[in-house]
Parts: sequence; structure tokens; C-alpha cells
Amino acid sequence: MAQPRNRTYFLDDDEETGFGVAEITQKAIIDTQERMGVMLDVMPMGFLFHTVQGILFANQEACGMLQVSKTAAVGHHLLDFVAESEFEAVREQLDNSFYNEDSMHKLETRLSRPDGTEVNIRLLSCRLPWQGTPVLQVLLQDVTDLKLTEQKLRRLATIDDLTGAYNRRHVFDEAAMHLARGDIELSIIMLDIDHFKRINDTYGHAVGDLALRRMTQVCNDVLAAAGKSDETFARVGGEEFLVLLPATSEAEAQRLAEDLRLAVNATSIELPTISIGITVSLGVCTYRSNDHGFDGLLSRCDVALYRAKDAGRNCVVVG
Ligand code: GH3
Ligand code: MG
Ligand code: MG
Repeated sequence: MAQPRNRTYFLDDDEETGFGVAEITQKAIIDTQERMGVMLDVMPMGFLFHTVQGILFANQEACGMLQVSKTAAVGHHLLDFVAESEFEAVREQLDNSFYNEDSMHKLETRLSRPDGTEVNIRLLSCRLPWQGTPVLQVLLQDVTDLKLTEQKLRRLATIDDLTGAYNRRHVFDEAAMHLARGDIELSIIMLDIDHFKRINDTYGHAVGDLALRRMTQVCNDVLAAAGKSDETFARVGGEEFLVLLPATSEAEAQRLAEDLRLAVNATSIELPTISIGITVSLGVCTYRSNDHGFDGLLSRCDVALYRAKDAGRNCVVVG
């Protein structure tokens, strides 16, 4: 098992705050611990008494988080358990807490434990209101589950359930962000599956759903192979998809649209007794100032898409 790192920790100004725990301070802390021992240990949060030199007391929850016994915790410094990249931020917060008696300091950060695992925590620190050697009370709240829930919620808010592509809201938000930033050459491709209703009517809704998922997979593969890094592929309607392409010229978007068309055309959905082919029609447009926003660009692209339908489907039209 890896051991906690032992780091030397200095305040910027040692002399002002004192170095070494005065006897009276230590006694006061021991008294507090004894009086509050059980309370501190049943707290669902990590709790430390911490001096400039290191941990004086860690409750049960903190020991669990730091993966040390109560006795082993004493003498270590909280910074021994902080992820390398977080070291400066945590050190700064502790410095601030030592110097500013009245305020509670908060920070979201990461611990790196002796077994190599990391845990996201909210770190609250505040100096105890007594004279003498400064002592901090430090609260460690495990926010790993909270972070995961946040990620899930963000995912739910931006991803289309059926296909796993981004949803309409997300691609519209992305487009608004690019336009607000004044990014040049914002292109879009609108894709609409040809005669999709027939697939549903002939083979059933479940097969239609399968086709939508396959379509997503094929398009994501083509876009990944194109090596662009900031495109967004989204399902914006039943069987309608949109590719948002920042920093992409009309000619480049047209080539990409053709690649998408060919890849979808080459795909088939294999059922036990039959293989079903799908095709798409595509409209391509690049933002112009007289589009006056994303809606203008979309309307032009919609016209291009319907011209592709009129032209016999399974083709690309640039608007
Ligand atoms: P066109 O070539 O002109 O685009 O014809 P189309 O049949 O693809 O277009 P139409 O708009 O007539 O039909 C779209 C169909 O998509 C109708 C609707 O039932 C189906 N659809 C919409 N959402 C879903 C879905 O989530 N799953 C499935 N299986 N079908 C869907
Ligand atoms: Mg449609
Ligand atoms: Mg269609």
C-alpha cells in the first residue's frame, strides 16, 4: 500500500502565526475533543483540527476518507493527501484561513489517497476563534456521488435517449455560443432519412428505432474519421439530424455531407430474414451575416434539404 506523502508545509510568514503548538492551545483542543468526541465521530463529514504543522485530530469519517488510522493521521498534513494538481489551491485556502479569523473558506478539490484512488471533496476551513497558536477546523465533504449525479443530469439534459446523439437543445445552445463569439465559417448539415415512414410501416417501430441508432453510429464514425474536434451531431426531430461544424467552409461541409450520405447508403440493417437499406437527403449551409441568427441559417438549410428531397432523395444540396 502506498504511504501518504509527507510534505513540508510552510506559511508565507511563520513568525507572525507562530510555529509549534502552545501548550494551552493543545490542552483546549484535547478538552474539546473529549467533550465532543462522540459527536465528532458520528458526523457524516470529515472533520479535522489542523495547525500550521499538521493534523491534531481527525474524526472517524476523515480517517476513512484519508485512509489512515486516527493515530496515524496526527502529524500528517492535509496537503499529504491532496492530488498533486490541487496542492497550490488547497495550500492557498489554508493560508487564507490561518490569516483571516472571521471567514469560512470553501473549495472543491480532490484528495489522492494512499491506495491510489481519488475522491472529490468540498473543503471548508475556518480558524478557531481563540488567541494563540492558530488552529483550523476543517470540514471534508465527499462530493463524489454528487458529481456523478451532476454528470448524469447534464447528460440527461443534453443527450437524446434513443440514439445517444446530442439533443436539439444542446446543438442550439452550441450554435448560439459560436454565433455569440463571432466564430467564422459556421456550417451546418441537415440530414433527413428518406421514406422513413415506410420502414416503420413495413417492419415496425422497433426496427425504425434500430435504424435511427444505426444512423447515429454511422454518422459519428464518419465525423470521427474526418478528424474534426468540435463538431456536434444531434438528433433534432424524429428522423432528422443536424451536424454543427464550427470553423468549416461550405466546400468542406459539402464534402463531409457527401461522406455521410455514402456511409449511410452503404449501411444495412440486418434482420433475421431481410436486410434493409437506408438513405438520407442532406442540406448544407454556411452562416452569412444576413441570416441574422441561427434560425435564419436553419431555414436556408431546410430549403436546401427539401430541394434534395425534390431532386429524388439520397443526395446533397448546398443552400
Ligand atoms: P421523406 O423521405 O420525405 O423524409 O419521408 P419520411 O417518411 O421519412 O418522412 P415523414 O415525415 O413522412 O415521416 C417521418 C416518420 O418518422 C414518421 C414518424 O412516425 C417517424 N418517427 C418519428 N420519430 C420516430 C421514432 O422515434 N422512432 C421511430 N421508429 N419512428 C419515428
Ligand atoms: Mg423529416
Ligand atoms: Mg424523412
